[in-house]
Amino acid sequence: MKFICDIMLGKLAKYLRIVGVDTSYSSSLSLSQIIAAAAAEQRTVLTRRTGQLLSGQQISVYFIQSNCPQEQLHAVIRHFNLQPDSSRFFTRCLLCNELLAAIEKAAVAGNVPDYVFSTINDFSQCPCCRKIYWKGTHYGNMLKRLEQVLGAMKEGTR
Ligand SMILES: [Zn+2]
Repeated sequence: MKFICDIMLGKLAKYLRIVGVDTSYSSSLSLSQIIAAAAAEQRTVLTRRTGQLLSGQQISVYFIQSNCPQEQLHAVIRHFNLQPDSSRFFTRCLLCNELLAAIEKAAVAGNVPDYVFSTINDFSQCPCCRKIYWKGTHYGNMLKRLEQVLGAMKEGTR
């Protein structure tokens, strides 16, 4: 399942990337560019807009009702019956959607804060924007928030 988010859904795009779902997003795409990309890459459009432009197109569209990014994530996972797998969490660049590649610790010296370098051993990097990722405090907090969203879902389906 691959998605493209329209410009109002940047946070949802980030959440989907965090849980490992292939999600295209750019704040500079027009609606017609989004429709063209969805058709070319066979992505489902996630949007908050209702209206003529999206209906009648030969693409798959899912309308997001909630204003809250966590509820939006919840809705997409439930609607498409996605099975978020924690082994795929944090495997994509949050900026580019590219899959991250492992990188040697020695190669990040000088490119990450000293306290990170001294406490973390596993690093990965985006092949596109070269951003370096590691599982630090931010990762732990994000994981907790995700578990809340996904945990609430499981309870809801019982
Ligand atoms: Zn990147």
